[in-house]
Amino acid sequence: MPRVMDASIDEVRSSADLLELVRGQVQLTRRGGRWWGRCPFHDERTPSFCLIPPENRTYYCYGCGATGDAFTWMQEREGAGSFMESVEQLADRFGVELRYEASSPQEDARRRENERIRELLERACAFYAAMLWRADDAAPAREYLLGRGFPEDLLRTFRVGWAPAGGTALSGRAIREGFSRQQLDQSGLARVRGGVAQDFFAGRITFPICDARGRVQGFGARTLDPNERAKYVNSPEGDRFRKRELLFGLDLARQAAAKAGFAVVSEGYTDVMGLHLAGVEGAVACMGTALTTTQLRLLARVVPEVRLCFDADQAGEQAARRTIEAARDVPVRLAVVGLPPGSDPGDLAATSSGREVLSAAVASADPLLPWLVDRRIGRAGESPAEQDRALADLGSLLEGFPESTDKDEAIRRVTALGVSPVLFDRFMRRAQATGARRREATPAPGPAEPPSLDEVRERRLLALALAMPTAGRPMLEGMREEHLGSPEHRAARQLVIDGVEGWPSDLAPLEAALRAEAADGGTEEELGDAYLRVEKRALERAMGAARAAGDDAEFLRLQAMVKRVEAALRGGSGR
Ligand SMILES: [Zn+2]
Repeated sequence: MPRVMDASIDEVRSSADLLELVRGQVQLTRRGGRWWGRCPFHDERTPSFCLIPPENRTYYCYGCGATGDAFTWMQEREGAGSFMESVEQLADRFGVELRYEASSPQEDARRRENERIRELLERACAFYAAMLWRADDAAPAREYLLGRGFPEDLLRTFRVGWAPAGGTALSGRAIREGFSRQQLDQSGLARVRGGVAQDFFAGRITFPICDARGRVQGFGARTLDPNERAKYVNSPEGDRFRKRELLFGLDLARQAAAKAGFAVVSEGYTDVMGLHLAGVEGAVACMGTALTTTQLRLLARVVPEVRLCFDADQAGEQAARRTIEAARDVPVRLAVVGLPPGSDPGDLAATSSGREVLSAAVASADPLLPWLVDRRIGRAGESPAEQDRALADLGSLLEGFPESTDKDEAIRRVTALGVSPVLFDRFMRRAQATGARRREATPAPGPAEPPSLDEVRERRLLALALAMPTAGRPMLEGMREEHLGSPEHRAARQLVIDGVEGWPSDLAPLEAALRAEAADGGTEEELGDAYLRVEKRALERAMGAARAAGDDAEFLRLQAMVKRVEAALRGGSGR
């Protein structure tokens, strides 16, 4: 895209009316010469969000530190995907005519190449979609999809398709249409071996995965052949297709989600289509076991609330915990859709009674924190020792949480069980100071026990370091062993640094779990964030020890370090 002239950007800056923009989403009242409202970036009861007078061109929140101008507002709250998009949208809205710089030949060439690949992906999507309804070998796919209750118009809306078997149907056609083998390879649609382009998807149902604006970035594809090793394959990871930064269905969900005030996140493509059938059109799929921070940020630009619609089993609970962790620096409220055990949205939507169950479950979603509290306490049963363990676990889950109505509700549910608020408050503080020691002293409670939030954080770091050893090993080497809370994690740290495969038998389950998580991949940004979170916890534990020892100087020194780590984590959120 040719560059917008700086003078035009200045003109947009002075013409954009931030007050008008903010008022579209936040109720503002005038007090003490300022406009105040309840912060749209964090959950609060009393207004601490305001515009800075006299010009009202900057917003600032005294509660969470969110700050920015009209350009960041467009990116954070109105769905602009980049600074330039925010410039264009503001120019449009406030009537500024943009002037552009002349562009260089190299830039032009790169832009044309990009456009070719984009066009190739769109054509592939149209080709697959046509094949689903036309190709003879797509008959079982049609039967399968229609048999699951998905009507043809819905399948066409989602551009569900069929990649013909054989392996050259798409490539051959693209080459005849003037695309190069290199462009096929770059788009992830084919692999070039010995000068021959071989289709990447063959004999599979295809689901196009688009960016927020509906531009095809890649595909997910399902086989119906029970002998195939992988039921689902995705486009290869590359510059364009990054699974962890995309959400299936986001382009179709945006408007409905914004209108409803929430988005529903499910696990798979057919879940999203099932939710649509049930009248929940603000639905997307995260194509993995838990949402990433990047995906949550995409959603937070559109809606203030995300409702998780995962399996109702233990894995769903773990995914929910990981989502809480990923959402730590993202201004979004989390809730859980409670489905009947053993059911998923795609299957429920096949019958009209199932669709009613589904839409009712979405409508009555529970805030995530209180839901986790109920689940954890429910699993503890009647034994006092188990209940103590549950309280300690919940203490460590809740203590690091910023104040919010959801946290109030979560604490209310704990105390409703007869635990006094004072006692639980002590649990929360003890969780901070002695979480690590408690875990060492308690024998491993068996596989059913979900890990504490600290353990989740540490595992995340170890798994990402396994996934990205070049960046991860120096990080682990640079940290002290005591930064990790449990002896297993300390041992694992050394094994990851040394690149050992096949860990000692007592660590084999941990190795398997970490490698499974590492297989999901990750970005270096996430690795950096994971490192900072573990570091922050280590510093907080040390602060607890310093306070207990009465060492004020050390306490203040550590507190300053925590502040720096927090600032670095916020920096990662782009605010
Ligand atoms: Zn705030």
